[in-house]
Amino acid sequence: MNQTVLTKNMLSDEVIKDLEINAVEQEVEVTATLADVVASANKLDPVFEGIRKSKRSKGKLEGWSLASCEDVQGLLMYKGRLAVPHSMRRQVIQEIHNGMEVGHSGLKKTYVAVRASYRWPTNYEDTKRYIDNCHDCRRAKPRHEAPAGLLTPLPIPNM
Ligand SMILES: [Zn+2]
Repeated sequence: MNQTVLTKNMLSDEVIKDLEINAVEQEVEVTATLADVVASANKLDPVFEGIRKSKRSKGKLEGWSLASCEDVQGLLMYKGRLAVPHSMRRQVIQEIHNGMEVGHSGLKKTYVAVRASYRWPTNYEDTKRYIDNCHDCRRAKPRHEAPAGLLTPLPIPNM
């Protein structure tokens, strides 16, 4: 499990309150892992509440395929994994992409790792966009375009 400790200024007041209430109930310290924070945001998200309370079980609601949604004790699950509210997606991708054993893994590895625990309808698009814009990745990787001009071999002169 990812044990990244998140600082309070990264979290909304509602999420902090929910985490503190849980902590008091369990008589443990507040050590928020990424999964805890996502779960708290999941429970409090108004869009998710609408999905959980929807009487429909087919079609789509706010982009979510209702057949793949499940309410598990107030938590919205999507395709059997924790659903991630809009506000938390970037942070989830960032924590996983930057924090993997080999940090800053490529798109495929990051995407697989994100989907192993977290789901939302635009998993792939959001992961791709994040990696395309990751400063560290852009700096570390060689550019794909062929270098301009200079390295093309000179024509063999006619004798
Ligand atoms: Zn990166």
